[in-house]
Amino acid sequence: MSEVIEAVEPTKAGHASKYTRNNPYTSAVTENYRLTAEGSEKETRHVALELEEGMQYTPGDAVGILAENRKSEVDMVLTALGFTGEERVLDHYKVEISLEEAVRTRLAIGKLTRSTINQYAKLVDPSTPIPRLAAMCGADGKAMAEEHCWGREFIDLLHEFPGVVKDPQKLFTVLQRLTPRMYSIASSQLAHPNRVETTVRVIRYDAHGRERQGLASGHMGERSPVGSTLPIFLHANQMFRLPEDTSAPIIMIGPGTGLAPFRAFLEERQAKGETGKNWLFFGDQRKKLDYLYEEQLEGMHKDGTLAHLDLAFSRDQQKKVYVQDRMQEKAADLYKWLEEGAYFYVCGDATRMAKDVETALLDVIAKGSHGTLDHAAEYLETMKKQKRYQRDVY
Ligand SMILES: Cc1cc2nc3c(=O)[nH]c(=O)nc-3n(C[C@H](O)[C@H](O)[C@H](O)COP(=O)(O)OP(=O)(O)OC[C@H]3O[C@@H](n4cnc5c(N)ncnc54)[C@H](O)[C@@H]3O)c2cc1C
Repeated sequence: MSEVIEAVEPTKAGHASKYTRNNPYTSAVTENYRLTAEGSEKETRHVALELEEGMQYTPGDAVGILAENRKSEVDMVLTALGFTGEERVLDHYKVEISLEEAVRTRLAIGKLTRSTINQYAKLVDPSTPIPRLAAMCGADGKAMAEEHCWGREFIDLLHEFPGVVKDPQKLFTVLQRLTPRMYSIASSQLAHPNRVETTVRVIRYDAHGRERQGLASGHMGERSPVGSTLPIFLHANQMFRLPEDTSAPIIMIGPGTGLAPFRAFLEERQAKGETGKNWLFFGDQRKKLDYLYEEQLEGMHKDGTLAHLDLAFSRDQQKKVYVQDRMQEKAADLYKWLEEGAYFYVCGDATRMAKDVETALLDVIAKGSHGTLDHAAEYLETMKKQKRYQRDVY
């Protein structure tokens, strides 16, 4: 599930950055390598981007990436539409550009939406109706349209119902605007002054007979070699911050790419020599293939930056083990840390992990306090009020 945050991009000093989603910084890729080993079911990459002097971020912030549609996809869409790409259109700001540029950089030709189906159907010539398309529109067709959208992209609509778009400008009413994608910042600027680092899971899958890619993760996974450039902007997230009290303990739950902001937290605390204890729970499928930043994390564990490092590799044994299971195993210690005033952070998958972790946390509190789950819920409410329970889930 991807969500794009609508907001201005204040920097850590609180004043608006010169660079925003509408005026991005053209950043050079300085590192781009695979973190997961060959053979892993996932391709997760470390992508570092250079920053102009003065561009600042705080651990917990995100970086917005404005990616382009793949050339092969753009060409396919133009061919299916019967346009050359040289036609002139007005973009969202009424600036005249070529249709090719519009399809490549302005319009969302990825994941099909109901809104696109509805707008597309409006362009159908009434003298040659398309009953199947009409059936998907309006309230009655909602379920059918939603099912149709699954795994499909705009190109599939064009192939199935061709010849509908006669005026290229109409694409701006049919298709949504291409939006930036957010990535949690995985670095501390104290450790890497003029760059921002990200941990990107590349989305690839097959659907309806074609190989598909996520827009931004595909761009970074395949079309962003070192030395290439990407339009970016920094996005502050005041709701995900290290404790102001540098001696406060922190507990971080970050499986998969959820690890990213915690790498930033740890690098920051290490660079500042903060005394607060750090405890990280990380997990993924297989230790040999999916242990992101293994060397760095093991090093931090060894030198004491990480007081505890608990790992959950789900596929390394018969019974699947997840971060929430590790939390249950360490319930007594976890509760002790909470009682010492620890801050509890969760980052990563919103659909299942974040809920399972919250359930485990409530259980840990109930057990530790010898109380009921209702009491645990109250305890968690208090933690939220004290900003000691922070989540960055997507
Ligand atoms: C605050 C925040 C922080 C984030 N941090 C990170 C991070 O650190 N690292 C990271 O990797 N991501 C992160 N994300 C997610 C990231 O922003 C993107 O949503 C993600 O990379 C996918 O974007 P994309 O453009 O590659 O894919 P899109 O083009 O947006 O495509 C993704 C869509 O493809 C479809 N899809 C995916 N798989 C399948 C399948 N198997 N079958 C059918 N359809 C499928 C789904 O509809 C999915 O929504 C974060 C998101 C937020 C909001």
